[in-house]
Amino acid sequence: MKVLILGAGHAGGTVAALLRQYGHQGQITLVGEEPLAPYQRPPLSKAWLKGEADAESLALKPVEFYAEQGIDFRPGVRGLQLKRSDTTVLLSDGSRLPYDVLVLATGARATPLRIPGAGLEGVMFLRTAADAERLKAAMGPGRRLAVVGGGYIGLEVAASGRALGAEVVVLEREDRLLARVTCPALSNFFRGYHERHGVAFELGCSVTAFEGEGGKVVGVRLANGRVVPCDAVVVGVGAAPNDEIAAEAGLATARGVVVDLDARSVTDSTVFAIGDVSYRPMPIYDRMFRMESVPNALEQAKQAASAITGRARPAGECPWQWSDQYDLKLQIGGYPIDADQVLLRGDPVGGRFAVFHLNGDQVRAVEAINSPPEFIIGKQLILSRRPVNKAKLVDPSVSMKEVAG
Ligand code: FAD
Repeated sequence: MKVLILGAGHAGGTVAALLRQYGHQGQITLVGEEPLAPYQRPPLSKAWLKGEADAESLALKPVEFYAEQGIDFRPGVRGLQLKRSDTTVLLSDGSRLPYDVLVLATGARATPLRIPGAGLEGVMFLRTAADAERLKAAMGPGRRLAVVGGGYIGLEVAASGRALGAEVVVLEREDRLLARVTCPALSNFFRGYHERHGVAFELGCSVTAFEGEGGKVVGVRLANGRVVPCDAVVVGVGAAPNDEIAAEAGLATARGVVVDLDARSVTDSTVFAIGDVSYRPMPIYDRMFRMESVPNALEQAKQAASAITGRARPAGECPWQWSDQYDLKLQIGGYPIDADQVLLRGDPVGGRFAVFHLNGDQVRAVEAINSPPEFIIGKQLILSRRPVNKAKLVDPSVSMKEVAG
């Protein structure tokens, strides 16, 4: 059986390795648009910018691994068109590859801002190692960096920029940071923490244009007419799935390729979609999600590799992700869906606390700052839906083990 994997990122690289680990003996071809072997993206906004990581240290596996495992890895090649009628994919090198099973692992791309000046030199995004390398060069001491978007990537870039001595201003449309993903208590905490590290914020502002001189960005124009001067801009306003190939081939898409619990397309049983490009069911919340996280890429790689090799479906996991800023480790388990109460455990002033989102007496999500036990047990509580004693949950003198009963 020939397995063709399109996209050699975290999900694609992982599923290739797992297929061999699970005993698949047939052909595996891994096609990736980037010139590098599959690598971890999270350090791009953290260690890479600070010069503490590079392409080699971030690789999921040493590049020899693919040949050793009989995986035909083709870097620098893009999949252009999926033809389901003859089960082939047309590649940018002109070849047309046949498949018995196709795994779409094409990830997502940074959402551009369609405003005047968007094409100026110095207006950057952060999705790939090449992007990170460009950005690093723009972040030295005294350089003025404007970050558009106060989400996780924007805030991580801001923290790295400060570590490198850059002057950083974050421009955010909403009236608080991380508005799409977290509660006001955490938004305020992060704002205060960044301000203490010298980051400036403009909240509730709309960016209308980038101003340039000689083809290079020199400022960001806001809707109120003010121009924020800068030497470089990073746009971090979200990402969109690379699902065009699937949609053009008639596969169901809805903010990503629609798949089932095996990560299999609901339209075509020979096609799987994993990682950022997939729109997947999440039974604990009884709804569909498109997630952008490494744990999600790993979970779906396991689901697809299991289904392809005839193994039992792996047990469902609690979705989670993390963000590192300065000495803060934020770990988030679950989603605050249908939550009717927010409970705080610990003391934000001490920089070690957790926010629990509950529906009745069930935990739906946890946001833990420098608090691994709250995160780990919180995830277990989310998955099990076991009722919790709220008085114990908010009392840091009661261990999380005891809270979990
Ligand atoms: P990707 O890793 O994006 O890989 C997709 C690959 O497919 C890319 O190499 C792309 O070039 C290639 N491709 C696309 N189209 C084609 C085509 N037509 N043909 C061939 N190849 C194609 N997650 C966390 O959990 N924690 C974090 O702290 C965190 N930090 C992050 C920081 C940054 C700066 C970024 C960008 C992401 C971060 N993420 C984080 C998200 C995480 O990296 C992604 O969820 C994860 O990489 C998804 O893996 P993927 O394989 O689905 O997509």
